Amino acid sequence: MNAPGLPSHAALRQFAVADDMLEVGGVPLRRLAQRVGGTPFYAYERAHIVRRVAELRAALPAGVHVHYAMKANPMPAVVQLLAGLVDGIDVASGGELATALDTTMPVGRISFAGPGKSDAELARAVAAGVLINVESRAQLERTALASERLGLAARVAVRINPDFALRRTGMRMGGGAQPFGVDASLVPALLGRIGQLGLDFHGFHIYAGSQNLSGVALAEAQEHSVQLALELAPCAPAPLRVLNIGGGFGVPYFPGEQPLDLGPVAAGLQLQLDKLGAAAPGARLNLELGRYLVAEAGIYVCKVLERKVSHGQVFLVTDGGLHHHLAASGNFGQLIRKNYPVAIGNRLRGGARELASVVGPLCTPLDLLADQMEMARAEEGDLVVVFQSGAYGLTASPTAFLGHPLPAEVLV
Ligand SMILES: *Cc1c(COP(=O)(O)O)cnc(C)c1O
Repeated sequence: MNAPGLPSHAALRQFAVADDMLEVGGVPLRRLAQRVGGTPFYAYERAHIVRRVAELRAALPAGVHVHYAMKANPMPAVVQLLAGLVDGIDVASGGELATALDTTMPVGRISFAGPGKSDAELARAVAAGVLINVESRAQLERTALASERLGLAARVAVRINPDFALRRTGMRMGGGAQPFGVDASLVPALLGRIGQLGLDFHGFHIYAGSQNLSGVALAEAQEHSVQLALELAPCAPAPLRVLNIGGGFGVPYFPGEQPLDLGPVAAGLQLQLDKLGAAAPGARLNLELGRYLVAEAGIYVCKVLERKVSHGQVFLVTDGGLHHHLAASGNFGQLIRKNYPVAIGNRLRGGARELASVVGPLCTPLDLLADQMEMARAEEGDLVVVFQSGAYGLTASPTAFLGHPLPAEVLV
């Protein structure tokens, strides 16, 4: 597919290339920009997402259910595409709930997590009939009130803050003091209270962290999660029907990072399925994945407005920046700024190559999409592509900062 001499990062090899120009869903990038009506924009490749889910399912044991955690990419067309491919959708706000309910995903396969659910959100979730992952005693009481007012027994699961942490992870969301979930030691009392309140208990939710590239570390956390759930299950008012052991599957962004090896995860999950099948027959084992399903299918595209040389260094000043793509600027959970894979999309190899920095229009030095990266020599009007941009892109960015227009989003 790629001609020799192209930049070697793996991200780029995931898309087709013709005449030195990137293609998304079979559409050459220039043509896609014309079709969108301008730059900047995000483009997500439909076939890539379909393939990703198929490959994941082929790698994992058949008994594992895959859910989509839609905060990674809540574009309605993307969520609908995934609704047809996965076994459930996990939402984390009333807004996401509304998007999920508009898809073809059955209501019974939608779950709702989040440490700060409002009374209005809880009422909507109870009325809709989705599974509410309860994250505190106070949230449980408010869920029960909503149930009483509506005359409907809420479907609930308990999100546990486990005593273990997911090792080698990008963003920790479990282990020690956390705003997420109920400390494991407090769960038995909470389960008793669920029984008193007469709510419809389904199971447990344990989510320990995000962006993990170690299959061994993930398998270890999954083993601990299943063990913890089975220890707590006897305190529950009803048999375990759902065990959501989170996700945290990472994707490689930076030089030297290797794609996640699913081998240890799949082997571990088979053991967990066997254990669960013996101790809690009929319980579903769910994974909830966001980033892993969509990150690599997406690119962010902006246009070079100006080529500028300052003290011998080349700056490509573009119409896109951190206000659309905070993560690529290094300001979304990175400790040390590193470059996302970036290339000139309409001249991938190009004639000459050079070191250039890609900056946005914002008056802040943080507005940096590539810092001194090797790429084709670009001119005004060329299209800069940021790869690995399908997750935590647009909706994880401060779009109001400096008042520039919103970028378009397309699923191709
Ligand atoms: C954010 C989140 C996810 C998705 O995490 P990824 O790293 O994108 O897979 C899953 N579950 C919960 C509860 C989350 O908050």
